[in-house]
Amino acid sequence: MSFYAAPIEKLMEEFSKLPGVGNKTAQRLAFHVLNISKEDAYQLANSIIEAKEKIKQCSICQNITDVDPCNICRDPKRDEEVICVVQESRDIVAIEKTREFKGKYHVLHGAISPMEGIGPNDICIKELLERLQKEQVKEIILATNPSIEGEATAMYIAKLIKPLGIKVTRLAHGIPIGGDLEYTDEVTISKALEGRTEL
Ligand SMILES: [Zn+2]
Repeated sequence: MSFYAAPIEKLMEEFSKLPGVGNKTAQRLAFHVLNISKEDAYQLANSIIEAKEKIKQCSICQNITDVDPCNICRDPKRDEEVICVVQESRDIVAIEKTREFKGKYHVLHGAISPMEGIGPNDICIKELLERLQKEQVKEIILATNPSIEGEATAMYIAKLIKPLGIKVTRLAHGIPIGGDLEYTDEVTISKALEGRTEL
């Protein structure tokens, strides 16, 4: 038997599915929704629907976007000869904040992790290789996380790309081992970009 009316119970259940939200927080959020104005509640619900319906993956770089190609891919001022490969879309934001990088990006949407059963075909490596056949790329910067998975992914991609005669570089250290690019400060990322080493 539930202590709450069914609609509240349902709302709490949905909130508790969110990352980092336990039962207590789910309860607090559900009651918060009950207290806000109808207008705000609709805005919240609509934002979720809109994000879900309008956000897709860029057909070129696989970054999440509401326009295809994304704004970075369609920007003629960006250097097409350099592609920075990252694990997640959030990493692009971290690098863009440094204002150091003027090339283009490629989002893998994950890293190779045998432990979790994620192989090369489960992330967007194939899409990267397809780009290299169409675009005149001179350098690939592998900016995957300095974790075991990120390193393994960088090594795997480097092995595939080096025979194509494209320069492959890896972000210099300074980014904490085991750390996430997403949470690395701008100065550290700038320095890591500057000091990247050829693989
Ligand atoms: Zn794009």
